[in-house]
Amino acid sequence: MQKELTDWVRPEIKKLVAYPVANADGLIKLDAMENPYGLPHSLQQALFQRLVSAPLNRYPDPGAKVLTKILIKQMDIPVEKAVILGNGSDELIQLLVMAVARPGACLLSFEPGFVMYRMIAEFVGVQYIGVPLTTDFNLDMAVTCEAIKRYQPAIIFIAYPNNPSANLFNADNIEEIIRLAPGLVVVDEAYHPFAQTSFMPKLTEFDNLLILRTVSKMGLAGIRLGLLCGLPKIINEIDKIRLPYNINVLTQTVALYVFENITILEQQASQIRQQRSRVYTAMQAISALEVFPSQANFILFRVLNKAADDVFESIKRAGVLIKNMKAEQGVLKHCLRVTIGTPEENNAFLAALETAIN
Ligand SMILES: *Cc1c(COP(=O)(O)O)cnc(C)c1O
Repeated sequence: MQKELTDWVRPEIKKLVAYPVANADGLIKLDAMENPYGLPHSLQQALFQRLVSAPLNRYPDPGAKVLTKILIKQMDIPVEKAVILGNGSDELIQLLVMAVARPGACLLSFEPGFVMYRMIAEFVGVQYIGVPLTTDFNLDMAVTCEAIKRYQPAIIFIAYPNNPSANLFNADNIEEIIRLAPGLVVVDEAYHPFAQTSFMPKLTEFDNLLILRTVSKMGLAGIRLGLLCGLPKIINEIDKIRLPYNINVLTQTVALYVFENITILEQQASQIRQQRSRVYTAMQAISALEVFPSQANFILFRVLNKAADDVFESIKRAGVLIKNMKAEQGVLKHCLRVTIGTPEENNAFLAALETAIN
C-alpha cells in the first residue's frame, strides 16, 4: 500500500500542534511580554542611517564578534566564560537539547513552566520530565531531588523568574539543584531587566551552569537575539551545531546600535517595573482575584468568582488581548496572565477587568 506523504514525517511530530500565536489585530497587545515602547524618534532616525549602509549583499560576521564583545560587557559575563548567540533564546534551547539528544536522554524542567522546553524536547526526541511546582509556584525540593536522582537528566531548565508564574524561585534551592544535577543546568534569565537579580556571578562557581539571556523582553523581540554563557568547552560543543550566519546582518546592526544607547531600554524597564507595582496594587484590591507576586513584566492572576474564559473574552471585547492559561484544573486553574504595558494600556486593562468581573 502507498504511504500518505505525511507518513514520512515522524509520528511524534505529526502529533504536535504548532506553537499558537493569538491574532492581536486592532487590540491592545498585553499577551506576549513585549516591551510596549518603541525606540524614540531621534534614535530611529540614526538607526535608519546605519541600516541603509548595512552590507546586505554580504554574509554576516559568522561569530558576530563585535556584538558578542559588547554583550559580554553589558551583561557582566565573567571574562573566562564563553558566549554563543542565537536567533532568539529559543534557538539556543533547541541547540542545547539537540546536543544532548542521545537515546534515553531526558530533559527536566518544572510545571507550569515555559512551554518551549517541553515542545523542543518532544520534537528533538528527548524525554521530558515536568516536575510539578508547589501550589504557590515554588520549587518542591523533595520531589525535585527525587526526580533528579531517578531520571539523571542530561539537562535541567530553570526559568528565573518563571513563566507563566512570574516569581523567582528560591536561590538556595537552585544552587542545590545545580550541585545535585549530573548534567547541565540552564538558568533562563529572559526577564532579567525586571527581576534585577542573576545567577551570572555563579558561573565561576559551577562548571555545569549555563546562563541564558535574551533581548526580547527588554524591547527587541522583533530582531530575534538571545545568548548563552558558560564554560568554554561546553559552549564550544554547542557552537558546532549552530548553523553558520544565524545572526543576520540586520539583527547585528540594530543590536549594536541599540546597545550603544542602552540607557533608553534601561529607562523603559524601570518604567515597566513601576507600572508593575501600580497594576499589582490595583489588582490586589479586587477581592474576586487572587494575584500572584511578580518579578517579571507580567502578572499571573486567578479569577475566583467567574469562569476565566468569560473574563478573558470580556476583556478582549473591550479591546485588550491578554493570555488565557486555559486550565480547568491544577495550579493554573482559572488563571489569566497580563503583560505590563504603558500607563494608558494598563488603565484600559484595569477598566476592562473591573467590568469583566462585575
Ligand atoms: C520569552 C521567553 C524566552 C524566549 O525568548 P526569545 O529570545 O524571544 O526566543 C525564553 N525563556 C523564557 C522563560 C521566556 O519567557
